[in-house]
Amino acid sequence: MTFDDLGLGPTLLSAVKDAGYETPTPIQAKAIPVALSGRDVLGIAQTGTGKTASFVLPMIERLSRGRARARMPRSLIICPTRELAAQVAENFETYAKNHKLTMALLIGGVAFGPQDKILDQGADVLIATPGRLLDQFERGKLLLTGVDILVIDEADRMLDMGFIPDIERILKLLPPRRQTLFFSATMPDEITRLVNTFLKDPERIEV
Ligand code: AMP
Repeated sequence: MTFDDLGLGPTLLSAVKDAGYETPTPIQAKAIPVALSGRDVLGIAQTGTGKTASFVLPMIERLSRGRARARMPRSLIICPTRELAAQVAENFETYAKNHKLTMALLIGGVAFGPQDKILDQGADVLIATPGRLLDQFERGKLLLTGVDILVIDEADRMLDMGFIPDIERILKLLPPRRQTLFFSATMPDEITRLVNTFLKDPERIEV
């Protein structure tokens, strides 16, 4: 299996090559074609397996094929911690370097000003922690009705940190007709309940 076999376009493949990746990891080989097809994905994978690229690459590909919608976020990635969100944002920048996509990193512990400016200019992709995302929504800075790809990363860590009520609030702000890519290293009952409630016939991929 090579990256060329996964259904990604040439622009994205050249960024992947530039990143020095030669072979897709197992989660990438399994999840990328399913995510490109538009189906929901339940990925059970630990950090270090290459799971970030397994959701960021198909997301960029689908965004680049879709029609631009000015000033409306089309994808949302939710991460449990600021550090993880910043890491995912760094990966996004690497993979999307040849695409004209804009991204806003919405994490706590930093001033609102710079985030507001990017949101006012319009961001295609939001990478956020739950608290700051809800803060920005309540401040009237976010329109979430155009989000048609949602990623939830490290769901079991969100559970440990007490974020499930926030996640449920966020899920209710999003259009029901969307793709959800859901990742967790473990599947405690509370996470299974969330998956059963909010994902539509997901393909379960475990590595
Ligand atoms: P992750 O599990 O997403 O945190 O990724 C772990 C590390 O593996 C990151 O430093 C990635 O840049 C790197 N990585 C992801 N996919 C590949 C790949 N196919 N080949 C080589 N390195 C990769």
